[in-house]
Amino acid sequence: MAKEVLYSSTRGAQGNIKASEAILRGLAPDGGLYVPDHIPHLEKTLREIAQLDYQGTAYEVMRLLLTDYTEEELKYCISHAYDSKFDTKEIAPISEADGAFYLELYHGATIAFKDMALSILPYLMTTAAKKNNAKNEIVILTATSGDTGKAALAGFADVPGTRIIVFYPKHGVSPIQEQQMVTQKGDNTCVIGIEGNFDDAQTGVKKLFTDEKLAKEMDEKGFQFSSANSINIGRLVPQIVYYVYSYAKLLKEGRIADGDPINVVVPTGNFGNILAAYYAKNMGVPIGKLICASNSNKVLFDFFKTGEYDRNREFVLTASPSMDILISSNLERLIYHISGDNAAADAEYMSKLSKDGKYEITDDMRSKLVDFFGGYASEQETFDTIRRIFEKTGYLMDTHTAVASAVYSKYTEETGDKTPTVIASTASPFKFTRSVMNALGKGDDSKGDFELADELSEVSKVKIPEAVSSIRTAEIRHKKVVDKTEMEGAVKEFLGL
Ligand SMILES: *Cc1c(COP(=O)(O)O)cnc(C)c1O
Repeated sequence: MAKEVLYSSTRGAQGNIKASEAILRGLAPDGGLYVPDHIPHLEKTLREIAQLDYQGTAYEVMRLLLTDYTEEELKYCISHAYDSKFDTKEIAPISEADGAFYLELYHGATIAFKDMALSILPYLMTTAAKKNNAKNEIVILTATSGDTGKAALAGFADVPGTRIIVFYPKHGVSPIQEQQMVTQKGDNTCVIGIEGNFDDAQTGVKKLFTDEKLAKEMDEKGFQFSSANSINIGRLVPQIVYYVYSYAKLLKEGRIADGDPINVVVPTGNFGNILAAYYAKNMGVPIGKLICASNSNKVLFDFFKTGEYDRNREFVLTASPSMDILISSNLERLIYHISGDNAAADAEYMSKLSKDGKYEITDDMRSKLVDFFGGYASEQETFDTIRRIFEKTGYLMDTHTAVASAVYSKYTEETGDKTPTVIASTASPFKFTRSVMNALGKGDDSKGDFELADELSEVSKVKIPEAVSSIRTAEIRHKKVVDKTEMEGAVKEFLGL
């Protein structure tokens, strides 16, 4: 029997709740994030795990962290999440190109890696509601930099007992990302553009979450908020699975020997995906370096270099919009862990971040970051990488994955480190068609994104994914745009408060 894992707030106000309660709440009442009281070690060996399929691996990992779910409950959630919604039985296949292993996390319904966790979160959440006899309807409140929104909408649409509201930066997502969201079906869905950037959307959402007056009003009307953002531990746990899976897969295929270290490179925005890799390492996967790749919004690169997190800088819109973030929420969990699970210290850093926009960690904390390497890629480097690898190998990647790939090249040049490396490939190139075509030198401003998708399909010999072809002529159902200061009003209107 695995030892029970309990969750508490990084800021200390709430401690020792069960996994299902943490998933149901999303964010702690003090604005902190739920963290496990210990990180369990894998119980099966990686060799044993190598004999399992994706679903079996998911069960092996998730049962250790979501300890109050029964075997039957977890297997129900897993089998309903990782099914034919994915276009490959492998769920997360690995492709080798130019000397690196690309772990493709974009084979789900919305062709971005957010599907890996958001396919299962609605099941984990509705199961949690049942387990805890929740009487209220759950209102999923989400801020998106483009990909979370659609993946959450797809997961929660028409799920009984839930409603979902998504805020996205009106001018900060790709046309295909926007079209995916505004055509979303389902009577329980609501999509709103805001005049502001992703950080504005995320800050606004966190404010609504911690607004006690609003919570009371909602409770009276039979509603309670939860979150589908990576601040929810129910997002993070399913993301650990594919790091375990990829190691086991490489082992099974004889590309690495048992115990060999691998490095992982993760294109990072909110720090959720790379934090999952950090947890995987702490659960016993032999991961050497955790390479954190940023685009021109390189606040994390600077943090790893100097120990100071400073969001006071210009927000840059890039061709990798899902990483255009200056406040990486999940870094708070890492800060908590490297401070020795010290909630008081964490709360103070976060209060500094909110007040001054910056904080600096201690030398002792910095010494616990040795496994991390921060890198960044400029727009030019990102585009050059897409083109270079496509021309050399025929392998086509999206702009986010290309940021990681470019950082990987810089890293090996700088360090000479030849450790086998897994690069998290986070989106299909068809989600960012215009930028990818520009990178290949085949862009054309006079053409629409769907026309360019046709051309990209010809150039790459890859069929246009269903996720793109199905929205081409779909009816636009969501047209609301509000100022970043009007988010509360929009929520109340949708809920009829
Ligand atoms: C969300 C996203 C990222 C960033 O992931 P984080 O967990 O926020 O660091 C990278 N690439 C794509 C395509 C994404 O959708």
